[in-house]
Amino acid sequence: MLGLWLLAVAVASAASWWWSGRVAHSYLQDQLVIERQAALVEASLVAGHITQRMSQVAGVPRAMAQDPGIVQAVQRYCDVAAYAALPLADKQACWAADPQLAALMHRLARQVSVFNLKVLWAANARGDVVAEARASDMPAVLGLNVSDRDYFQAAQQGRDGHQFAVGRLSNTMGLFFSSPVEVDGTFAGAVGANLNLDEFSPLMQGVHALLTDEFGVVVLASNPAWVMRALPQAAVFEQAQPLVEARYKRATFERLALDELPPLAGQTMVTLAGVSGPLLTASRPVGAGLLQLHTFRSPDRIVAATQVGRLSRFMAITALAALALGLLAGASLFAEVSRRQNRALYRLNARLSRLANTDALTGATSRRQYLKLLALELARSNRHGMQLCVLSLDLDHFKRVNDTYGHAAGDAVLRHFAQVVRTQLRQSDVLGRLGGEEFSVLLSQTTPQGGLQMAQRLQAAVAGSMVVFEGEPIAVTVSIGGVHWSVGQAVAVDHLLAAADEALYRAKREGRNRVVWYGDPDPASDEPS
Ligand code: GH3
Ligand code: MG
Ligand code: MG
Repeated sequence: MLGLWLLAVAVASAASWWWSGRVAHSYLQDQLVIERQAALVEASLVAGHITQRMSQVAGVPRAMAQDPGIVQAVQRYCDVAAYAALPLADKQACWAADPQLAALMHRLARQVSVFNLKVLWAANARGDVVAEARASDMPAVLGLNVSDRDYFQAAQQGRDGHQFAVGRLSNTMGLFFSSPVEVDGTFAGAVGANLNLDEFSPLMQGVHALLTDEFGVVVLASNPAWVMRALPQAAVFEQAQPLVEARYKRATFERLALDELPPLAGQTMVTLAGVSGPLLTASRPVGAGLLQLHTFRSPDRIVAATQVGRLSRFMAITALAALALGLLAGASLFAEVSRRQNRALYRLNARLSRLANTDALTGATSRRQYLKLLALELARSNRHGMQLCVLSLDLDHFKRVNDTYGHAAGDAVLRHFAQVVRTQLRQSDVLGRLGGEEFSVLLSQTTPQGGLQMAQRLQAAVAGSMVVFEGEPIAVTVSIGGVHWSVGQAVAVDHLLAAADEALYRAKREGRNRVVWYGDPDPASDEPS
């Protein structure tokens, strides 16, 4: 029973482990989807902020390109042969002395301050910077030629330019924006502005995030070690060396250790150098695709919560199953015990009723049971049209036995007598002790002749036997009265016994140790007298 219970509990816990695993998996799936959405929202917010700031800054050169002072300046200092040949220092001295340029640069300085720019400049059509304003920590660009820069070339082609680059003089990473200055639809110069990326560093605090430019180079990151590394598949690895050097002021890039892992519950996961465990990642474009923002989130808390949830679900179900199975086992144990007790009770009852129906001394059927059996047999014989006989037996001079040899000897004689009678009877015949040394025998399905024969056989058998009690031989004889019964005779049990007794008294009277039949046992005569 215990083994079966243990097996059932083991099966139940295996099933519960499997089920709790499935629940945990779908919970993890849902939670990771939510977490990924949250990462996307977070990335969108940061990307939106940077994009907004970039378009604000891009608007400054666009507006300033219309400024009449700038239009004049780029025209005045353009393509004058004598001027073009001057060395840089002389050019710078010339521009610095120009009161009109001084007024223009004052206006530029105001924009630098208002829009928190690093540098704002105007260049003529040749790419020479003729006017500038800058933050105090930035080196001068006046006189510098920027004609080789992407953003200048874009302006030359009549477009707004924007790019990420490392400042040639400042060495700082910045975003460069430009707009063309046009006179009568012809390119006359460009206005440029520079925004330092450091401005966005606070947005990267407290998260794992990095910003890459269009060539996949990390330009800003929550971890400074990632900056100026390239994404594993970055386009910068395919670019021509001079372009790379002009843009980044370096020739080679280390790859950022960012590896894709097999998906976890349907979500792409990555590992990133310096951050432990698998990470969920979300990407968002910044500033019309100029940059790309990547954020990373650790699902550790979710995974841990999922495992705890699974474990507690498993334990609860297993405990319930063990309890239920225990109750079941208890109930069946109780039923089994009850069954056994019932069987024992039944056996006890059978034994008790056997004892109650049997005479303890002789083993003969008790008086009460004998009368019951006799009544039943009468009814049965009546129903089936069968005959039966009843014999009354009484030991002869039994009192003398008691008197002579003692009561114990009398008991031994009674036991002996019953034993002798039983050996003569058929299985279906019944020997009953009606009291003292008086017995009765029921012979079922027996004709009067058969009954008479049996009576004579009993009388002879008793007379022919000898009881030896404590070395003393004791002779014993019996007197028998018999009666027969046939179908249709309305005779009660009492009457039948009385008739047999009457025959018995006659036998006593006629000298004992003999058989007397009540009525005529002759087959020729059907009528009992
Ligand atoms: P009869 O031939 O006329 O039947 O003479 P009897 O002596 O057998 O007749 P009676 O009825 O006078 O005596 C019966 C005796 O049987 C009396 C009684 O003490 C004795 N008796 C009755 N039951 C038992 C018993 O269980 N054990 C013993 N030892 N004696 C018993
Ligand atoms: Mg008697
Ligand atoms: Mg007697």
